[in-house]
Amino acid sequence: MILYNTLGGEKQEFVPHEAGKVKMYTCGPTVYHYAHIGNLRTYIMEDVLEKYLRYDGYDVLRVMNITDVGHLSSDADTGEDKMLAGAKREHKSVMDIAKFYTDAFFSDADKLNIKKPDVIEPATACIPEFIAMVQTLMDKGYAYFAGGNVYFDTAKLDNYFVFGNMNEEELQVGVREDVSEDSNKRNKNDFVLWFTQSKFEDQALKWESPWGLGYPGWHIECSAISIKHAGEYLDIHCGGVDNAFPHHTNEIAQSEAFLGHKWCPYWFHVLHLLDKRGKMSKSKGGFLTVSLLEEKGYDPLAYRFFCLQSHYRKPLVFTFENLDNTVQAYNKLIARIGKLSRDGEPDLAAAKPYQDSFKAALDNDLNTSLAITALYDVLKAELSDATKRYLIADFDRVLSLGLIEAADAKNAEAAPDADVDVAKIEALIAKRTQARADKDWATADAIRDELKAMHIVLKDGKDGVSWEIEA
Ligand code: AMP
Ligand code: ZN
Repeated sequence: MILYNTLGGEKQEFVPHEAGKVKMYTCGPTVYHYAHIGNLRTYIMEDVLEKYLRYDGYDVLRVMNITDVGHLSSDADTGEDKMLAGAKREHKSVMDIAKFYTDAFFSDADKLNIKKPDVIEPATACIPEFIAMVQTLMDKGYAYFAGGNVYFDTAKLDNYFVFGNMNEEELQVGVREDVSEDSNKRNKNDFVLWFTQSKFEDQALKWESPWGLGYPGWHIECSAISIKHAGEYLDIHCGGVDNAFPHHTNEIAQSEAFLGHKWCPYWFHVLHLLDKRGKMSKSKGGFLTVSLLEEKGYDPLAYRFFCLQSHYRKPLVFTFENLDNTVQAYNKLIARIGKLSRDGEPDLAAAKPYQDSFKAALDNDLNTSLAITALYDVLKAELSDATKRYLIADFDRVLSLGLIEAADAKNAEAAPDADVDVAKIEALIAKRTQARADKDWATADAIRDELKAMHIVLKDGKDGVSWEIEA
C-alpha cells in the first residue's frame, strides 16, 4: 500500500515494523463537548484506513486515548483547560462532563459505522505512566523544572521540526496569532509535560507528583498511552492535520527522547472539514453534530458516504446542498442494490478482477472515491446478481456504508403485506425455478400468480430470476 506520509512529505510504500502486523495509534477526542462532523471526518477516514489494512490481511492493533485532562485552549500552554471550561459551562464536574461526552462520541461513532479501537484509554487512567515518562525525560536531561511546571527542552534535539514540509517560521510559538509566550520557557517551542502552575484557574483534578500537585500536559498523554499499549515501535499514527503541529511534533520529540530510538515512521493526517466560516471547530461554536443531522432527517451513513466521496488529503467543504446531492446518490445506490436477486452462488473467479481494482484504488493513498467508482463498476458489470451482492458486501467491509443491510431493510419496508417475508418469497421462487426446469409449466405459472397476489413481480433474466415489490 502506498500512503502519503507527513514525515517525509511524500507518498511512500507502507511497510510495518513486524511483517503482517500493524500497530496504529489515533488521537482521541477531547471530551468537553460533542464531536462535530469535522472531527468525525477524521475518525471516518481513520476507520477506513484501519479496515482496509485488515481487509488487506494485516493483524491490526489500534489504540486511542480519550483526552479528559490537560488539553488547553492555547497551543502555548497558557490557555484554560478545555475540560474545566466545559464543566463550568454546564455546571457539572469535570468527570461528569468527560463521561457524558465520551458516551456521546461513541454513540455518534457507532451511527457512522466507525469501529471502536481495540484499546481505548482515558488520560486520567494513566497518571503513573505519565509521571514515569516525565521523570525519565528529566533524568535524561531532556526536561527541566521552571516556574512550577516541567518543560521539554526542544534545544536538546537536532531537529525538532520533523515535519519538514511545514514552514518553521509560521510554526514558532508567538508568531502565530493564536498563541502567547510563556516566560518560563527556555526556548519558544518548549512545551509543558507536567503542570502545577497555570495562568488560569487550576484544573479541578490534580495528582501528586515529584514536582508537586498537578496534572499532565496534553502531548505526554498520547506518547505514554501509545507506548503502554503498542510498545516501543508504532507503525502508524493518525490525526487531523491541525494535530501535526505542535501536538504530533511534540509527541515525536518526547517519545524518541524517552525511548532513545525512532518511534513511528508513518504519519497519516486528515485534512479539515470546512464550512463557510472556515475550519469547523468546537471552540468557535455553531458546529454541526450527528444528532443535528439526524434531527434534520439525514441518515448518518449518508454523511459517511459524503466523506468517502472525496480524498482525505483534500479539505472538504460542507454545505447542506452538497449533502443533499450525496443523499440522492446514496438512496439510488441502495435502490439499485435492492433490485439484485439474493438467489444463487457468487462466481468468485469473475469477482476477482473487481476486487483487484477496489484494492488498487485504496492501495493508492486510500483513494476512497475511486473505491466507490469500483463499486459502481460492479453494478454496471456483466456479472450475476449473486456475484454483485457478494462484491458489494466484500467492499462494504471497508467502506462500512451498510449497503446490503439498507437495501434489504428498504425492500422489507416496501412490502405492502407485512406478512410477506423474504424467505417465503425466495422459497417460492426456488420452487418455480425447479418446476420450470422440470417443464412443469402449470406449477410454474401458479407460483407466479401466487407471488403476484403477494405484490411480488418476477423478472426472468439471463442471470436467473430477480424479484421486486410491485410499485
Ligand atoms: P479534538 O476533540 O479537538 O481533540 O479533535 C479530535 C480530532 O478531530 C483530532 O484528530 C483533530 O485533529 C480533528 N479535527 C478537529 N477539527 C477538525 C475539522 N474541522 N476537520 C477534520 N478533523 C478535525
Ligand atoms: Zn494525540
